[in-house]
Amino acid sequence: MIGVLAIQGDFAAHGRVLERLGVRWCEVRYPAQLDELSGLIIPGGESTTMLKFLFDEGFIDPLKQYARRGALLGTCAGAILLAREVTNPPQPSLNLVDIAVKRNAYGRQVDSFIDTTMSPVLGPPPLEMVFIRAPIITHVGSGVEVLAEHRGHPVLVQQGSRLIATFHPELTSDTRVHELFLTLADRRSE
Ligand code: GLN
Repeated sequence: MIGVLAIQGDFAAHGRVLERLGVRWCEVRYPAQLDELSGLIIPGGESTTMLKFLFDEGFIDPLKQYARRGALLGTCAGAILLAREVTNPPQPSLNLVDIAVKRNAYGRQVDSFIDTTMSPVLGPPPLEMVFIRAPIITHVGSGVEVLAEHRGHPVLVQQGSRLIATFHPELTSDTRVHELFLTLADRRSE
């Protein structure tokens, strides 16, 4: 079972991708639901709003416990929540992936755009990426693998069974990022 954190943001779009892939999924609103998951998606949205909810609802420790056994996919705001360090402005984060991120880093004029890149790991065709007021990953730790870059910045990275995209893979018809995530979740549930 895959869960999508459904506090705020575009969790429904992730659900539609999972349905297309024939995967059982549920909307996650309570910490106890984490027990039944092999994978959890933290979607895009507004990271400050989600962070407040996670603190208020007692999600922080259960999420850290969950991460010891389950896979995680964080997209955009989800990437910000999972990072080790957040700037512009600084805010607390779960420190589950060894990256530093700068919020809203693409500036006003181009704060939302679509572009493509080649990911050696995903292979051809090029990956279409939708960036919406996206963060930039400014630092990756030595245990973090960069799976795709855009304009010299990592945009898809992996640390163990934790996958981070600064763009929105749920908004294109390309399901390769979700499929990669599902292989990580499968591996963890064996
Ligand atoms: N700008 C948002 C934030 O900083 C993230 C945007 C998104 O998830 N599309 O939280």
